[in-house]
This record gives sequence, structure tokens and C-alpha cells, in this order.
Amino acid sequence: MKRRNFIHNLGLTAAALTAGVNPIGAHEVKKDSSTSPSNTLISDTEDWPKRNDNWLYLGNGQKLKPKRFKEVHYDVMVIGGGIAGICAAVSAARNGSQVLLVQDRPMLGGNASSEMHVPINGSYHLKNKFGCDRETGVVEELQLTNKAYNPYCTWEIWDHMMYTYADEFENLTIELNIQAIEALMEGNKITSAICWQTTTETKWKVNAKIFIDCSGDGLLAAAAGAEYRTGRESRDEFNESFAPEKADGWCMGDSIQFLSVDMGKPVTYKAPPFAIPYDFSKAYKRKINGLSCGFWWVELGSDYDIIAVREENRNKLAAYTFGVWDYVKNSGKFPEAENLALTWVGSIAGRRESRRFMGDYLLNQNDLMNYRHFEDAVGFGGWSLDEHCPGGMDNLKDPPSFFHSRFNKQYEIPYRCLYSKNIENLLFAGRNVSVTHMALSSTRVMGTCSTMGQAVGTAAALCLAHQTSPRGIYQKHLMELQEMLLRDDAYIPNRKANDPENLATQATLKASSTSSGDVALLTDGISRDLIESVHHWASEDSKASVTLTWKKPVLLQTVEIKADTNLHQEIELHPNKLKMETQDFGLPPELIKTLSVKAKINGKWKEIARKEDNIFRLIKLHFTPIQTQEIRVRPIDTYGSKTHKLFEIRCYR
Ligand SMILES: Cc1cc2nc3c(=O)[nH]c(=O)nc-3n(C[C@H](O)[C@H](O)[C@H](O)COP(=O)(O)OP(=O)(O)OC[C@H]3O[C@@H](n4cnc5c(N)ncnc54)[C@H](O)[C@@H]3O)c2cc1C
Repeated sequence: MKRRNFIHNLGLTAAALTAGVNPIGAHEVKKDSSTSPSNTLISDTEDWPKRNDNWLYLGNGQKLKPKRFKEVHYDVMVIGGGIAGICAAVSAARNGSQVLLVQDRPMLGGNASSEMHVPINGSYHLKNKFGCDRETGVVEELQLTNKAYNPYCTWEIWDHMMYTYADEFENLTIELNIQAIEALMEGNKITSAICWQTTTETKWKVNAKIFIDCSGDGLLAAAAGAEYRTGRESRDEFNESFAPEKADGWCMGDSIQFLSVDMGKPVTYKAPPFAIPYDFSKAYKRKINGLSCGFWWVELGSDYDIIAVREENRNKLAAYTFGVWDYVKNSGKFPEAENLALTWVGSIAGRRESRRFMGDYLLNQNDLMNYRHFEDAVGFGGWSLDEHCPGGMDNLKDPPSFFHSRFNKQYEIPYRCLYSKNIENLLFAGRNVSVTHMALSSTRVMGTCSTMGQAVGTAAALCLAHQTSPRGIYQKHLMELQEMLLRDDAYIPNRKANDPENLATQATLKASSTSSGDVALLTDGISRDLIESVHHWASEDSKASVTLTWKKPVLLQTVEIKADTNLHQEIELHPNKLKMETQDFGLPPELIKTLSVKAKINGKWKEIARKEDNIFRLIKLHFTPIQTQEIRVRPIDTYGSKTHKLFEIRCYR
């Protein structure tokens, strides 16, 4: 049951729930009643009598084996609730599909959850230090929800904010603690996923038309027979200068994280007996700085099957982590650690690399370094080529990461890397996509994974709308996919929005005041400032408005605004306290909180839509259709800034 319905059943009114800042209802949710899932509990055979759970009141001598079973039907199934999976599921749902997202952990977020404490990094890690060009779209909305409801930024509340945000989408069902383990096939098509939910002892059969594997390891995709690679490509294969001469099986490693807290007085430390002593003198370039969290280089890889050794590596990683902390506390080399107590050590080994599924294109180091332009670009990245050394802590003579190269600008990710070359109805997003090991050393960061997630979720919805396959979208509906992404506030480098339905592009725009940018830029198809060009309008004061005038009356029903969230400022939850101190408390001060749209109807200005307590960059306003020649968009207040900045205005009938 969705949390919203559960609360509704408790008898709370919407008003009681939405007092104060309210992201809920701020999303665009397109309902599609024609595809309502018929989700049933099926247990029809003699072996599985027709009951939900075979639950027996014991004491009557019977010994039935528990065989709980559920069969459900959805348009789209998303496997894995990390950042890529959330973005995929939300995007498919908000574009009209009935979606099931299954996640095998008790919370969403994957490595970004409180189980791992990994910050969502992305394309802002550029050489020129232009600042932070954060990813927009679903991943930003997730993080802004967190800023609104978790201003003190604890990881445990963040888990719930990710769930809260995703659960708001009418068409999206989330099931936690479920692992997809087997694929049922008809030829090259997946028809169903067999799953196991640990908390309810239930076997699920999930029938769907499109499957999106965002699980990192990709068990379902592999079980379906999707072609994949592991390990490192040879230098010759793609002419990748940083690749090893010969191909081998090495994957970047898994890591365990920790947190420490300043107790305000000296704290002693005694390492548990299983800790592996850390020999700093033998470790090359493993920096011990920022002691509140870390260290990503406490890492162990595999040159054969990194999935098979996960538990073994986890135990060894824990032993290494306690050993490094022992060194920090007791070597005498870190006086700043005197008051620090170790308060959390992860129990799950976070993963960077395992299977990479093959699409119609395999993205490589040169595509990234040459900023190759792809007609089918749907995502982007910019994190450096941050390839971790083979072996991690078992290979202290190499640096933990080679940090081969940093980028000057963002590179493009083509859609053809995000669907299977041999399974007809399978898409993927995240670290398991069609890239070489060397390209993955950059594309794996979660901001970049989020752009892929939004792209495949939107593509899945489009597959259903056009009754086609993911490849069919590439062949026949690519522009439509790109336009949908841009409208939903994704960014695609080197591509302007050009939506013929957008009536704002036919209007003349005039602002009552301008302090920077230009009001005409609000319909230029680019909704963020770039390194080389400005694409905003900002007012001189808090009273300004923008008027759109058409030559002839137009029929309008929707106005969409892209507001300012200061994309240079980081907003991700970060385990490093010093990093968090550089962020604004709560929502970005630049963000518009209240916005009103008026239309001139029969010579009089009338308010047709108003948004209060807005927390997102993309503000979509729907209203009863009106015929007008003039509308006025008026930002009323922000979360702090005195002037108002916008990046785009769109109008639709
Ligand atoms: C220690 C460490 C530090 C890192 N540092 C950074 C960093 O600073 N910034 C950054 O952006 N990235 C960082 N990374 C890389 C990044 O975390 C991963 O590449 C990223 O999480 C991949 O995202 P994803 O959504 O593909 O997978 P994940 O985040 O792994 O999410 C996939 C989810 O699917 C679940 N799942 C798996 N199999 C199934 C199944 N069969 N059924 C259902 N659910 C399943 C998993 O439990 C997981 O929760 C780091 C990684 C590690 C390990």
C-alpha cells in the first residue's frame, strides 16, 4: 500500500498533511487509467491452495509448508532502487506507465543510502573549476525534497525522503526487500521476473512489458541472457590509452565506509582482534585527511568474479577499516583525532563495478575524452577518469586511483548504451550499462547514473505509447524522447529544446525589470547557464514580472517554469562534515517559493494559476483551459533572494 493511502485510511485530511512546505502534489503525475495493473494474489494449484499466505493457526497437527505467492502485472518493472533506479521508475511513472520498482534492501538509495553514505557526485568535477553544474531533473528533485524536509541532513532521514519523493507518484509502486532472481522468457523477450521478498516470505511473479535493470550487478538481466562484459578491455580493442595492454578480469573494488564524531574530550580506541594492522609506510598515495568519514580507498577488488567474493571481501574490508582507524587513533600521527570516536562502520560492501551489459553502442575512453557528439545523446557526465587500481588494499604499491584525466566540459552519453543488444524489452541504467571499464571509471558516479535513469524511464513510457521496443525508440522516436527529457528538466549537452507544441516560443516576452540575462532567453531552448553563454532572466527587484503576448489568441491549459536552484552550489548529502558546512541550510535561497500566473481575459487580468510552497526547479501549473493573447508570470517570493531568476517559460494547450 502506498504511504499516502495508508495515511488517508487513518482519516487525516489533506490539509492536515500539507500544512507548511509541501512537495507533495508538486510533481507532474499523468494518470493513465487504461493501463491499471490487475494485481492479484494467485495460488490456484492443489499444491498452493487459494489463500494469500497459507497461514495456519497451529495446534491442530497440520504441517503445511509456507508458500506465499503473488502474481502482479505492470507496464514497466524497474529492478534496483539506487539513484539510477529511482530516476527510471519516477520518469516512467510520470510519463504515464504503471511501474513497479523493486529494491532488495530495506531502503531506497543504493550506495547513496544510510547503508553506504556515498555522496551523489556528478559532472561538476571539471578541470576549469567553473563551479558546480549539478544535474537537474529527478535527481535534483530528490535532493531538494531532502533539503526541504531534512535540513539538518541526517542519512537516516534521507532514506525516508527518497521513499517519500518516489512514493508520491500515483503510478509508481515500490516494494522493498525484494530481489529479482530469475527471468521467464518468450524468445528474446522477458515476460516475467521471479522475485523473493525476504520480509514477507513471498515469492513474486512480476509480469511486465518493459524491464529496466538498475541493480548494478544485473542479476535479472544476466539471467535473461543479456550479453555482458566484466573486467578490463585491452588497450588495442578501443585504442584506449589508459587500458592495460592485455584484457583481464579486474574490476574496481568494493569498499566499506565509516563515520566518526567529535566527543568534545579525548577518546581512546582499542581495535577488535580481527582488525588487520595498517602499514602506512607500504601504502602509496592513500591520504588520511578529513577524519569525519572515509576512506574510499579501503577497497578490495577481484580479477575473476567480484560477485562471488562479496561476503569474503566484506569481512576483510571491515578488518582493514578497523585497522586503519587503529592507525589513525594510536599511531600518534593524527593529534586531530584525539577527540574522535568511531560511531559507524558499514556492514555492506559498496560496489563500483561488476557486469556491464552490452547495448547497440559501447562507450569508450576516447568518446569521453574527445567529447564525441552523439545524435542520440540522452545523458551526460564529467567526473574524471577515476580508475581505481586493481586489488585495492591488497595492492598498496599502486595509487588507489589513477585519476587518469579530468574533463574540461561535459561529455555525452548515447541512448544506444542503455538498452540490450540481444534482449528485446530490456533497458538498463547506472553502473551496469554499455561502457568499457575505462569509461565506467567516470560514468559510474551517481549524478551521471541519474541522467541515464531518467532517460530509460522516459524511454520505457515511450515504448508503451508507441507499442515499440527500446531499439524502436532509437530508430523512430529519438527526437520525441529527447524533447520529453528536456521538458522534464533533464539536460542534454549541445542540444536545444525545440518542442513545436510549446506556444511560448511564438510569443513576445517582456520583463518589467532586468538585472542580468535577457527575457528572450527564457524561450531559447537552453534552461541553464553554460560555461560560454547565459540563458536566464533575472529581475532587479522582487516585484518584477514577465509578460508573454501572442499576435492572436491562444488556448492555454499549462504553464511550465524552470526556476533557479543555483546549479553552482552543491546540495548533495555528504559524509564529510566540512563539505556540508559549505552548503546552504535548507532550500536554495534563490528558489522561487510562490509564483502566480495571470491572464488577460476580456480586457481584465485574472489569476489563472498559483504555486505556493514550491520546492522544485520545474514548476508545472495546470488550469482550466483559457483563451487569451497575454499572460503574466509573476514570481512572488523566494527562500531568501531579493531578486528573481528564471531559466525557461513554456506554455501548452
Ligand atoms: C565506497 C564507494 C565510494 C564511492 N564514491 C562515490 C562518490 O563519491 N560519488 C558518486 O557519485 N559515486 C561514488 N561511488 C560509485 C557509485 O556509488 C556507484 O557507481 C553507484 O552507486 C551506481 O549506482 P546504481 O544506481 O547503478 O547502483 P547502486 O547504487 O548499487 O543501486 C542498485 C541497488 O539495487 C539493489 N539490487 C541489486 N540487485 C538487485 C536485485 N536483483 N533485485 C532488486 N534489487 C537489487 C542493490 O541492493 C542496490 O541498492 C562510490 C562507490 C563506492 C563503493
